[in-house]
Amino acid sequence: MKQNERIIILGGGLNGLTLAYLLSKKNIETIILEASSRLGGRIQSIQGKLNTPLELGATWFSEKHPNLISLIQELDLKKYPQFSKGLSLFQTKSFEPAQEFYVPDSEAPSYRIVGGTQMLTDTLSRKISSENIHLNTKVNAIKQAGNQLIIKADNGLEYYADKAVLCIPPQLVVSQIQISPALPEDVLRILPEVQTWMAGAIKFVLEYEEPFWRQNGYSGMLFSHSGIVTEMYDHTNFEQNKFGFTGFLNAGAVSYPREVRKELVLKQLKELLGEQALNPSTYVDKIWIDEFISDGNQIIHRPHQNNGHPLLQKSYMNGKIYFSGTETAPAFAGYMEGAVIAALNTADKLLK
Ligand SMILES: Cc1cc2nc3c(=O)[nH]c(=O)nc-3n(C[C@H](O)[C@H](O)[C@H](O)COP(=O)(O)OP(=O)(O)OC[C@H]3O[C@@H](n4cnc5c(N)ncnc54)[C@H](O)[C@@H]3O)c2cc1C
Repeated sequence: MKQNERIIILGGGLNGLTLAYLLSKKNIETIILEASSRLGGRIQSIQGKLNTPLELGATWFSEKHPNLISLIQELDLKKYPQFSKGLSLFQTKSFEPAQEFYVPDSEAPSYRIVGGTQMLTDTLSRKISSENIHLNTKVNAIKQAGNQLIIKADNGLEYYADKAVLCIPPQLVVSQIQISPALPEDVLRILPEVQTWMAGAIKFVLEYEEPFWRQNGYSGMLFSHSGIVTEMYDHTNFEQNKFGFTGFLNAGAVSYPREVRKELVLKQLKELLGEQALNPSTYVDKIWIDEFISDGNQIIHRPHQNNGHPLLQKSYMNGKIYFSGTETAPAFAGYMEGAVIAALNTADKLLK
């Protein structure tokens, strides 16, 4: 890359932040334009009323994710295994009692980040000069003007750049950003058909004063074919002094108001784990259908459809526009590992 080139990163999720961090290590400053009022994208940790870190977005990773684990270590963050000891439950049918099973000790563990997944994006963001991070800046146009790009945002601001990196879900590129001259036809055809991982997912979190399920011999792990909760895990913090659950609701829950979702979740848990389930300190859920994730069209995508597509590995407009973001990664696309792999690959391309 040439000296003093101005690189603009669209999107301040794990991918955009990791890319900015990797380039900063080579003394290359970048500017991050982030549409929403917060960084992190699909990583979002909140605090319950009792200050339990609760994950509305990405939560788990494993030893199969070495690039993510290296980044976590480099940032001096710590990981800890997901709790799975005790009786786990599987509800096959609404009219049969839940089946009970134990997760074998030999099972490879999933890990969580001590303090919450957002420690990762928060720590990365602190490595980047705050004046180079522009929130509430949703990009809606990229135009080539001579040797430069003019990048326009919804808030009326315009930025000049030599290169732009699209660290956003690829399907948003066509629906949100007018690029001129237009990207090649084959790229425009593929972009709306790149599935955004977890678009439409409904994640819930619960916080309790006491880990009553552990005290009664349960792991807190639940899989269900019959209830509103389809999948659930113990969400106790690393220090083991804050307690709760996190998991997913079935897709039909999208049509209920939050109060009804909460009522149905608590009813299901009361039947399985006892009366104490009815008194959480915190219940929050999040339906991941916002404009920052998917373009709202009704096309049904297969999971990971067109993720890591060869057309997403190329640069466009004579090396001025790059695709990044977890959905572009050739391996583990959609996951945090994919976001880190894509950032490493994009940094390599930019540094050439
Ligand atoms: C409910 C849920 C659970 C998940 N669980 C796991 C898990 O357990 N393990 C795991 O590995 N992964 C999990 N994931 C996936 C993981 O969150 C993603 O792989 C990762 O966070 C993606 O990072 P990214 O930077 O590529 O994209 P994103 O996080 O989507 O970041 C893109 C950013 O771009 C911004 N943006 C969008 N449009 C524009 C625009 N026009 N202009 C400027 N900015 C824009 C967005 O606001 C966003 O901040 C989960 C995701 C969800 C939603």
